[in-house]
Amino acid sequence: MNVSVRPAVDLSSGLEDVPVLFEGLTLPTFQYSPDNVQGPGCTVDPSEVTLPGCSCLSHSCPTESCSCLQTHGQAYNCTGTLLELSRTDFGYCSPVFECNALCTCSDTCSNRVVQRGLRLKLEVFNTCNRGWGVRTLEEIPHGTFVCEYAGEVISFGEARRRQLGQRSEENNYIIAVREHAGTGSITETFVDPAQVGNVGRFLNHSCLPNLFMLPVRVHSVIPRLALFAGRDIDAQEELTFDYSGGHTSQNPVELLSTQSDADVQASRTDGLQRKACHCGANKTCPAGFTAIISPWHNVPGIPMATGCVYRR
Ligand SMILES: [Zn+2]
Ligand SMILES: [Zn+2]
Ligand SMILES: [Zn+2]
Repeated sequence: MNVSVRPAVDLSSGLEDVPVLFEGLTLPTFQYSPDNVQGPGCTVDPSEVTLPGCSCLSHSCPTESCSCLQTHGQAYNCTGTLLELSRTDFGYCSPVFECNALCTCSDTCSNRVVQRGLRLKLEVFNTCNRGWGVRTLEEIPHGTFVCEYAGEVISFGEARRRQLGQRSEENNYIIAVREHAGTGSITETFVDPAQVGNVGRFLNHSCLPNLFMLPVRVHSVIPRLALFAGRDIDAQEELTFDYSGGHTSQNPVELLSTQSDADVQASRTDGLQRKACHCGANKTCPAGFTAIISPWHNVPGIPMATGCVYRR
């Protein structure tokens, strides 16, 4: 069901600090939420503060003494640009934890970036062949936080139930983020912005993307799926990321193979609902326009990693 609206409305209805412009006559039906919300099967409310804070009294946390930065390392420079994250021997990047509601540093601490929300002028527009897309109306330097991929945080079972209930022509919005913990265990997070979501739900896939996704923890152990500029981006460019996390040549369903749950085993055959790739990046799409994108996405950290180490 679509509702007629005037062009150039704020898709967020004032919920974001900057308006999310919308170019079109009919507005897709969904509930705008700048942040993740608790969905079916998710046992933790993502808005709850569950991580400890530091006791720094300076404007911006000092690397030498801040417990947040000492424990998790520094992810951003003084202007909030993402630094090259350190890697483990296995190629995984370190997890990103920001200062949170329990930290005593100021709101302008350089370890608070994703939590500040949308800062850039973005516009949702109608592409000629790929449905909706998102473009930036201003230049974005490499490493800048752009927006979250926010939605309902749901369990694996609910993600699978929803995905199996989709018709093949429907968009699949569910993103599964898999993180490798230092102990060998794996954390998986499923986010579905189909019914409740933010501007991130309109981003298209590309095999040659200009954004990359990184799980970032702020107040909660549940990560926010943050999208950063992977290179300098010009004004008016369409923003895209790789839904598969850079592993389009791998069968993404196999990534769930370490789980023994019967549902997971079943999903290895039943979950193969596939989408055609329209990104047009012929050189990197494994099969040009016919590359396969699985509904089960493995999202890495900095490009080419296969997950993030999450140390407890
Ligand atoms: Zn701080
Ligand atoms: Zn601190
Ligand atoms: Zn802190």
